[in-house]
Amino acid sequence: MQEELKQLRSSQQWDGIFIIALFACLWCLVTVGYATMDRLHLFWLIPVMGWVQYYIVISGHEAVHRTLCPSKSLNEFVGILGQAMVGVNFTAYRLQHIDHHRAPTHETDPDAHIYMGVLKQSPGVKRFIWLTLGTFIEILIKIRQKGVEGYGTKRNIKPLVQQSMRRDSVLVILCQLMWMGLAWAILDLRSLWSASMVSMFDEYGWLGFGIQLGCELVASYALYWTIPLFFVTVFLNRCRIVIEHGLALALVDNISTFNGPRIPTVEVHPSKLEQWIFSPFMFNFHGSHHAYMTVPFYNLPKLNALMKERFPLEDNAMGFIEFPKGYLQALWMVVNHSYSVSEQH
Ligand SMILES: [Zn+2]
Ligand SMILES: [Zn+2]
Repeated sequence: MQEELKQLRSSQQWDGIFIIALFACLWCLVTVGYATMDRLHLFWLIPVMGWVQYYIVISGHEAVHRTLCPSKSLNEFVGILGQAMVGVNFTAYRLQHIDHHRAPTHETDPDAHIYMGVLKQSPGVKRFIWLTLGTFIEILIKIRQKGVEGYGTKRNIKPLVQQSMRRDSVLVILCQLMWMGLAWAILDLRSLWSASMVSMFDEYGWLGFGIQLGCELVASYALYWTIPLFFVTVFLNRCRIVIEHGLALALVDNISTFNGPRIPTVEVHPSKLEQWIFSPFMFNFHGSHHAYMTVPFYNLPKLNALMKERFPLEDNAMGFIEFPKGYLQALWMVVNHSYSVSEQH
């Protein structure tokens, strides 16, 4: 096993950068769409933008593990800049995510607020409402954990790391100001004001100008960046995490022999379409990733096959289980599973 693992870890492929380049092109196209198309087209431009942002978020996960590409400096560059673009402090995210990997149970997992929040509700409608509307609460927690403040870890942070965190915070703010300016320039919301509003703004001089500009900046930024980010990206990410660890927890609930060293995790086998939408960078092999997090994403299918060969799933020796169906069925199962937190010790 050690020899095979060494091979899987040391392979040098540039797939990650290729995916990033592809999505950078898509992002440019969507931006051109925002700039040139009628506002009615926002109904599809917003979800596509959210999906592009989701890929940026997940590329940050690869960068956290230094498995995005063979070049260490390019890996860090894409990680820092890409995450600043989506409002994430990369250094804070890295600390918080490593804490997630190290967590022995959900009690110490910094991501547990996402899946336990859902599982705590009674199955069915209540859990579904929490899964969907709980997105609002998650956004607030995320801003604190991984955004400008970067409070995601309880560890003592070394001065050098603190310095990187401050650098990333500045980058996050700069990037967001840049999006605001770009969105304002391309969306041109000025034409939406009624004539009476415009004359009122004129009446108040500089103050009126400031209020008008402020409203336009906030609205443009929301349409171009924050609405897709909060309501598409965060929601997709939320569903994924609820499955990876929430469904896993529910599925091992009655298995007393479950032997995982850390929080239970489930491997999902999605359709091609689901893989594209939900599971960039082979995220569906999350159990394999938790067992050996330094294996690059493109080798996870091989790692999964290797682990099944060496550690029969019935033994649960590696702490992961497999869900043979796709993400939608996995979500359905999480929402309706009879798992109850109050029965846990
Ligand atoms: Zn995980
Ligand atoms: Zn990870």
